[in-house]
Amino acid sequence: MSYSKPNIVVPPPGPKAQAWIRKDEGLLSPSLTRSSQLVGLKAERVYVEDVDGNVFLDFGSGIAVTGLGHRHPDVIAAIKRQLDQLIFVNSLDYFTVPQVEYAEMLCAATPGSFAKRVFFTNSGSESIDTAIKMAKWHTRRPYGIGFVNGFHGRTVGAVSFTTTGVSARRGFAPMYPVAHFVPYPYCYRCLFNREYPGCDLHCMRYLTDVTLKKIAPPDEVAFILVEAVQGAGGYIVPPKEFLPRLAEICRTHGILLVVDEVQTGFARTGKMFASEHFGVEPDILTVSKAMAHGLPAGAAVARAEVMDWEAGAHEGTLNGGPVIMEAAKEVLRVIERENLLEKSRVLGAYLKEQLEGLQKRHPLIGDVRGIGLMVGVELIEDANKTPARDKRNRLLDEAFRRGLLLLAAGESSIRLAPPMVITREELDTGLGILEDCLKLLG
Ligand code: PMP
Repeated sequence: MSYSKPNIVVPPPGPKAQAWIRKDEGLLSPSLTRSSQLVGLKAERVYVEDVDGNVFLDFGSGIAVTGLGHRHPDVIAAIKRQLDQLIFVNSLDYFTVPQVEYAEMLCAATPGSFAKRVFFTNSGSESIDTAIKMAKWHTRRPYGIGFVNGFHGRTVGAVSFTTTGVSARRGFAPMYPVAHFVPYPYCYRCLFNREYPGCDLHCMRYLTDVTLKKIAPPDEVAFILVEAVQGAGGYIVPPKEFLPRLAEICRTHGILLVVDEVQTGFARTGKMFASEHFGVEPDILTVSKAMAHGLPAGAAVARAEVMDWEAGAHEGTLNGGPVIMEAAKEVLRVIERENLLEKSRVLGAYLKEQLEGLQKRHPLIGDVRGIGLMVGVELIEDANKTPARDKRNRLLDEAFRRGLLLLAAGESSIRLAPPMVITREELDTGLGILEDCLKLLG
């Protein structure tokens, strides 16, 4: 199996895919969104083949997970080596070597040269819940502050801070009892109708002048939880001063800064972690997604003095299993060996430039923004920037029919997060399909 281009042999979803989808619909939870009718069978590098033999070019990496390309041979080899050694002993009662080795590598790879500790989890949501509990334990303070349009996951703690849309929250209140939300600098749609940089980040005054003065006493705030770049919210890159100022506010009041790098981590933005672009060293940093190449994995990495909870305060049976840890170790090695930080930067700049070219030819594209190979394209109906939600959804569908996997984000944006091993020619192929779809939608 070696793919070099998308290849549609039967209009997707083909007959086999349709049959599986029908069966799935009767069995799986109706809460799953399923934005596309892909029924994956095999994958390699930047291509996914479905059950009908259609080959798709993957511009989403399953939400920034398969950054090294699907089924990277070195990660497969590492997993196989470990399968022959030890799959499980349970890491709350026993110790394993891969866990210690990977914890050491992860501490070295994350921002800040201070002493750190790691707690391993099985998902992004769980990493967030870990961070919330840890911050509460350490500070003994009740309040938590998150950002409007933030996405942090679906477990009860994480969903309490997820504000990308009410469908994630409806029916679940009360959640985390004292969560407050402040605006994220979404400059393309500034809530305050200001222009950056003249605004001097006016939106942050909501946090300083409203939340921390009138609502949440700063000495009772345990943490501020923020995405370094908003992911599900629309691939929104904040102005460079935003995170450093937030860190300063946290320092002033003894509030812990929790940076969610579940989506931005592991070279996606051209740095190992996006916090590095902004010169910020989080008190707690959460990861998952690309960490173990698609195996269920996550972690909260914290300053050693912050992770000071007592034995029994927080644990998990499957967390940090040896197979996962070996995959995760190899992910870090591949990033270095294949120079993926540089590739993400260079290819990301190329992708953005090409998309800006598309924007000039297609007024449907209102905004192109991104950092490294994490690029968002926001679609609009008119000069008033009316979100083109239906057209965005149709565009994803048309792209799928032509063999290109794209993912949605925000109200009317597309997130482009192709595997970092993609070539320029493959980016051009995908961009060509994207342009055909834009022409169709007008
Ligand atoms: N945080 C961020 C920034 C995410 O993008 C996501 C998933 N999209 C999560 C947390 C939750 O991760 P999971 O789906 O693995 O629970």
